[in-house]
Amino acid sequence: MDDARRRYLEQLVELGEADLVLPEGRRPERRAQIGSQTARTEVATSGKSPEPGARPASAPATSPPSRPASAPPAAPPAETPAHLKPLAPGIVAEAPAGGDDLFAADPLRRLATLDALVPVIDACRKCGLGATRHRSVPGEGNPRAGLVVVGEAPGATEDETGRPFVGRAGKLLDDILKAIDFKREDVFICNVLKCRPPENRDPEPLEVTACSPYLHRQLELIGPRVILAMGRPAAHALLGVNASLGELRGKLHRYRGIPLIVTYHPAALLRNPHWKRPTWDDIRIARRIYDGDAA
Ligand code: URA
Repeated sequence: MDDARRRYLEQLVELGEADLVLPEGRRPERRAQIGSQTARTEVATSGKSPEPGARPASAPATSPPSRPASAPPAAPPAETPAHLKPLAPGIVAEAPAGGDDLFAADPLRRLATLDALVPVIDACRKCGLGATRHRSVPGEGNPRAGLVVVGEAPGATEDETGRPFVGRAGKLLDDILKAIDFKREDVFICNVLKCRPPENRDPEPLEVTACSPYLHRQLELIGPRVILAMGRPAAHALLGVNASLGELRGKLHRYRGIPLIVTYHPAALLRNPHWKRPTWDDIRIARRIYDGDAA
């Protein structure tokens, strides 16, 4: 056979068309990898197609035809990762409409300023306090404050005025801030609850859960250098712990990476003036963190 005819036959074998040109008995076995290197080599070197069922002379009788004896065993087919498997019928994997992701779809995240939160808080009825309070008390102060003070919930005077810490406890807070060289307007002051609980009762867990997203968004928008949590409810809401004030004081905590100091609530200091001294210690630490001396 001349070279040109051999090349032609090689191509036909490669294309699986050997049946068209080779007589019975000289056709490569279908299963013998038509178009594979094995079939090509036989045609090219002997000028004959492999016998039906034939294997290359070099291959041992017991070895599998597809892999040399020296090759490592083939790895079992990899399991398809769960996230690539088809979803169960009825489940549709689609991003929320409008190209948003789940976080952008959070309505509070769309509010880009503290002022934008005010009407949303005022309209909030996620818990029962919206129906019993007179005014909501979102918080007030410097929107770029380096220090944010977080109390528990509005009292009677705050409920009447819509402003945080303006009653007796508020006057004491002003003095506390003055002791570390802050004026009210330098800092941002707010509470865990934005509405007054009736008779100043303790906040209920569901109220804290419902109201906390406003506080979290406020802190996210302000991005302070340090947070002063006044009283257990503020510390618990921000740190997600249930420890006593004694356990929480005297430590540097972190709220989403922001240094946080826990101290007594001003109302507690009005009841127990002995706690003023340790409060003084706490707020000096907060001031040092603010100044960049610590944390
Ligand atoms: N107590 C608080 O915790 N917050 C106020 O705004 C007033 C009193």
